[in-house]
Amino acid sequence: MNSDELFYPPGIGDAAMHKDLENRNARAIIKGEKLRSLRNRHPWIFSGAVERIEGEFQSGDILSVYAPDGRFLAKGFVNLHSQIRIRALTFREETITPDFFRRRMAEAMSFRRTFVPPQTTAYRLIHSDGDLLPGLIVDRYADVLVVQFNSLGIARLRPLVIEWLVETLRPRAIVERSEARILSEEGLEQVRQVLYGEAPAEVEILEHGVKFVVDVVEGQKTGFFLDQRENRRMIGELAAGKRLLNCFSYSAGFSVYAALRGAITTSVDISEPAIEMARRNFEINGLEVSRHRFVVANVFEYLREMEEPYDVIILDPPAFVKQRKHVARGAQGYKDINRLAILNSIIGGLILTCSCSAHVSWDLFQKIIFSAAREAGRNVQILGKQSQPVDHPINVYHPEGEYLKSMLLRVLD
Ligand code: SAH
Repeated sequence: MNSDELFYPPGIGDAAMHKDLENRNARAIIKGEKLRSLRNRHPWIFSGAVERIEGEFQSGDILSVYAPDGRFLAKGFVNLHSQIRIRALTFREETITPDFFRRRMAEAMSFRRTFVPPQTTAYRLIHSDGDLLPGLIVDRYADVLVVQFNSLGIARLRPLVIEWLVETLRPRAIVERSEARILSEEGLEQVRQVLYGEAPAEVEILEHGVKFVVDVVEGQKTGFFLDQRENRRMIGELAAGKRLLNCFSYSAGFSVYAALRGAITTSVDISEPAIEMARRNFEINGLEVSRHRFVVANVFEYLREMEEPYDVIILDPPAFVKQRKHVARGAQGYKDINRLAILNSIIGGLILTCSCSAHVSWDLFQKIIFSAAREAGRNVQILGKQSQPVDHPINVYHPEGEYLKSMLLRVLD
C-alpha cells in the first residue's frame, strides 16, 4: 500500500512505527490492598489503586505495572488525565509491539466472520474492552468503516490501527467519530474527520436482509444502533400484522422490520433528521409510507397524550443515566415511560423495554419495571431478557461492558 494514500492527523503517534511500543523508563506500583482487582484481571486500574509511578513518561504511554513486592502484574496505557489511571492491555509478561494490536484486531474480526448473521453488512468489528482493545470501536457499514478512539493510548496508535484496517479490509472510506462524553475525561478533544478515502453522504446497508440508509458523518453515534439488531429481528416476528408504536425510533429500524411483515407502525422521535431517514428507510424497502405514521415529538409528551392503545410498544431511549450520580433521576425517567407504555397497551400487548445505561444494573432495571407496573395498576409478565448481540462482546473480567438491557413484557388486565 502506498502510504501517501493515508491521511494521518498531525502530531500523533509516530510511536507506532517502532517495534517495541512500551516505555521501559517508567513503571507503576500498585497499592498492596488493591491487588485483588488486578488479580481478577479487571482492565481498569483507578488512580486510587496506584501507589506511585516511577520514572519519566507521558500520558498515553504503555507501562508495566508491579505489586509493592516487585511482582509483575500487568501492562497498560497510562493516563494522568483520567480517573482510570491505567487501562490494562495484558496480564502476561509479553512485549507490546504493533503486532500485539494487529493480533487483537484480527482476533476480533475472525470470530465475527463466523457469528455475524447472513445478509448483514453492518456490525461492530471491534468493541473496546469487550475485545481487549481499550477505547477502540470500529463499526462496519458495508464498505465504509466508522471508528472511535475513546482512550488516549489508543488515539496515539491511530496510524497503526488505520493502516491495518486499510490493508485488511480495503474499505472505501474510514470516518472517525470520536465524540463520546468520556473523551474529555481522557484529556482528548472531540474529533469528526475522514481518515481515509472519501466519505459518501450515505451508505446503504443490509441487516438480516432489511435495507437501511446510514449517515456515517451526521447520523447519531456512528450512524446506526447496531446493538439492537437481534431485538429488531425479534420484533419483526412478534409484531407481524399488529399495530406497533416505536418510541425513540431513530431511523425506524424496529418499524421497518415489523412493517415488512404487515404491521401498521407509528415511529416517534424528537429528531427531525431521524424521522426523515425513517421515511427513506420505508421507501427503499418498498413499503408504502402513507400507511404508516412518522411523528417528530418528545416521547414523554406523546405517551401522555396518545388516544389509542397499541399491540406492541418499543421503548428504546438514549441512556438516561450517563453518570453514576444521576441514577435516581434517570430511574425516574425510565419509570415514567414504562408506566405510560403499560397504561397504553392492549390486554395481551407486548412491550420491548430497553436501557442502554451501563450504570443501570439488571436488578435496578427490573425494580424500575416493577414500580412502573405497580403505578399503572396492571399485571405484567416478563417473557424474556436480552443483552447485547455477539458483535458487542462482554469481557467477563469487565462486567461494566454489559450496558444494554432489554426485557420483553406482556401486559395483562
Ligand atoms: N431504536 C432505535 C435507536 C434509538 S436511539 C434503533 O433501533 O435504531 C434513541 C433515540 O431517541 C434517538 O434517535 C434520539 O433522537 C431519540 N430521543 C432522545 N430523547 C427523546 C425524547 N425525549 N423523545 C423522543 N425521542 C427522543
